[in-house]
Amino acid sequence: MTEATLTARADRLVDLLAEDELDCLLVTNLVNVRYLTGFTGSNGACIVSPEARLFVTDFRYIEQAEAQVRGFDPVKGERDLLADLAGRLSGRAGFDDADVSVRTHRKLLEAVGTGVELAAAGGLVERLREVKDEQELWAIAAATDLADEVYELIRRRGMVGRSERDVAGELEGELRARGAEPAFPVIVASGPQGALPHAVPRDVEIEPGVLTIVDMGALLDGYCSDCTRTFTTGRLDARASEVYELVRLAQEAALGAVSAGANCSEVDAVARDLIEAGGEGERFGHGLGHGVGLEVHEGPRLAKTAEGELRAGNVVTVEPGVYLPGELGVRIEDLVVVTDDGSEVLTSFPKELIVVD
Ligand code: ZN
Ligand code: ZN
Repeated sequence: MTEATLTARADRLVDLLAEDELDCLLVTNLVNVRYLTGFTGSNGACIVSPEARLFVTDFRYIEQAEAQVRGFDPVKGERDLLADLAGRLSGRAGFDDADVSVRTHRKLLEAVGTGVELAAAGGLVERLREVKDEQELWAIAAATDLADEVYELIRRRGMVGRSERDVAGELEGELRARGAEPAFPVIVASGPQGALPHAVPRDVEIEPGVLTIVDMGALLDGYCSDCTRTFTTGRLDARASEVYELVRLAQEAALGAVSAGANCSEVDAVARDLIEAGGEGERFGHGLGHGVGLEVHEGPRLAKTAEGELRAGNVVTVEPGVYLPGELGVRIEDLVVVTDDGSEVLTSFPKELIVVD
C-alpha cells in the first residue's frame, strides 16, 4: 500500500476518534494493524491520535516494519509490546475490546500512566475497512479473477467418480500454483451433502446426475475473494432443476437491489421473499451475504437482522441458498462492489446450470 493510501486511512480513523470522544486508539488486532500501517508480521500494534502515529514491534520484525510500514513512526519494543504501548497512551484511550483479553486489559490498566482512561472502542477500524479504497478494490478484483480462472478448470477436469476431497484438494493446489492461497478450505459438497452449508469435503465419490456445490475463494496480497457455484453432474430431476432456477432468480434479483443507500435487511428480503414465494422459505437458513476484504467474513452483513445501509465502496457477497436435508443443496454466490447507482459484479464465472461430468 502506498503512503498516501495508508495516511488517508489513519486520517479517516482520526475523524472517528473525535466522534467517540477518544484522544487516541490502541490498535492490537493484527488485521487492523496491517490495514492501517501496511505491516504483515505477527507481532505489532499501533497507536493513532490526531498528533501521533506510532507503530511498535519487537526486534524480530523491525527490518520488515521499516520496509512495509508507511506513515507511522516505527518503535522497537519488547516481545511483549504491552509495556511500551501503555506508556504511550494518553487521555481517553480507546482499545479494541473484541481483541484484548481480560488479562491483557488488567495488565494495560496497571501499566498506563495516571490520567489515562481506557475506553472500550472495538469495531472502529472494522467500520473503516467496510468501505474499500482503490487499492483494495483492485486487490479484491485480482483475487476474484484468479479464482474464476480456477473455476474454469472444474469444467475441463470433471468431477464424476472423483472424491469431493480430491476435487477440493486439486482446486486448492491450482490456487497455490497461481500464487494465491485458499481464502478458506474449499467446499465441494455433492448430492445430499450439499444440504450442509458448511460441508467438509468427504472421501466419497461424486455420482452422476447430482447437484454439487463448490465454494472457493482466493487470498492474494492479503485480500480475499469468495464465490460459490452449483454444478450438475448430469441430468437432474424436475425438483432439483426447479430449486436451481429459484435460487438463480433470487440471486439475480438481490444483485439488482444492491446499491449505495439500500437497506441491508431489505436487500436480504428481496432474495428471501422470492424463495418464500417459491415455497422454499424454510430452506434458506442463512443470511444473504457478508463483506469481504482482508478477511473473508467482515462487515457489512446482508441479513434479515442486519442494520444500516450499504455504502459505495462496500464489497459484499450475494449468496442465497436452498438446502433440502437428505436431498440436495443449491447456493450461488457472487462478489460485488457497491456503487452509487448499483453494483459492479466482480465474479465473471457464468451462473447458468453447467453440466460437469
Ligand atoms: Zn463462499
Ligand atoms: Zn460467502
